[in-house]
Amino acid sequence: MSKKMLSIVISVYNEEDVLKLFLKTIQEALKKMQEKQFDIWDYELIFVNDGSQDTSERILDEFAQKDTSIKVVHFSRNFGHEAAMIAGIDRAMGDFIICMDADLQNPPEEIPRMIAQYELGYDVILMARKENKDAGFRKNMTSKLFYGVFNAVSSVKFEQSVSDFFGISQTVAKILRSRYREVNRYLRGYIQNIGFQRVILEYKAKERVGGHSKYSFHKLFNVALDALTCFSKTPLRAGLYVGGISGVLSIGLLLYYGISYWIHKEGNGMILLCFFLFLFFTVLFLVLGIMGEYIGVLLEEVKDRPIYIVREERNQEEEFIDEKEVERTRGEKSN
Ligand code: UDP
Ligand code: MG
Repeated sequence: MSKKMLSIVISVYNEEDVLKLFLKTIQEALKKMQEKQFDIWDYELIFVNDGSQDTSERILDEFAQKDTSIKVVHFSRNFGHEAAMIAGIDRAMGDFIICMDADLQNPPEEIPRMIAQYELGYDVILMARKENKDAGFRKNMTSKLFYGVFNAVSSVKFEQSVSDFFGISQTVAKILRSRYREVNRYLRGYIQNIGFQRVILEYKAKERVGGHSKYSFHKLFNVALDALTCFSKTPLRAGLYVGGISGVLSIGLLLYYGISYWIHKEGNGMILLCFFLFLFFTVLFLVLGIMGEYIGVLLEEVKDRPIYIVREERNQEEEFIDEKEVERTRGEKSN
């Protein structure tokens, strides 16, 4: 039987403190796995260095030098965790692809369980955190708040505790490679939204083995905004709802003003005028604000900036060719 290939994508941003331990742990876990039940699985590790400023680059290059099953991609600067995962998925040759963090919060011991699900025929294996000691109260609360708001306004519902730890089949990866190339994107959402057979496994998130979390509140907030604009049009409609309510209100006020004028034979026009002014300005600015948000997204898409720019790569299969390029040359040939 021909061997199957497992690709593991690891995003790395200033992880010099944990990289060596990560590699040791994952290689041990994979070796154990091959010895026990999954001897027909080969693996490759794809480290995507998301513009680290520390010595991560050097450490990764050393890894690649010693072991050709380790591929390394260096970004030209920090493009964010999502871009790093996408770059890894783009390069993954495996039948099954797992994305995980470099800090060992996503335990490598879970990999056999994920492969077992893949072998059962699942294309998307989502890993849901049972508890996250390291995240702390603030992050857990913000995550709750985000998913609460998100699921309330979006037609697509997301699982709350699903993390950036997931497995996808090559089929799903191919779709992610050719479609879903938006600059304003939410990968976690795509894989929950892409369809196919999907399963959610629970796992116990561990504490970070070293270094510190790279997700500042600011970054998290941006991820949340991206997710919203990516998947929900409800905010766009909020203007309409508010407009409708204010319309009803203004008719009511007009009636009230008319009736009181009819009874008292005079009305306080100034107050009425001010009220209307404030009311309409509020509505106007609300609608404008929301439109601005979406126009911002449109603008980004129109600009069509690359999701990532690779500076250099190590141990990369030579056949790795840009899919678009392949399509283009195919078109030329048939013409
Ligand atoms: N990461 C990345 N680019 C970034 C921020 C983070 O590639 O801009 C990587 C980081 O090195 C780690 C993973 O994404 O492997 C998750 O980040 P982190 O552990 O800091 O997030 P947390 O677990 O606290 O949510
Ligand atoms: Mg982490």
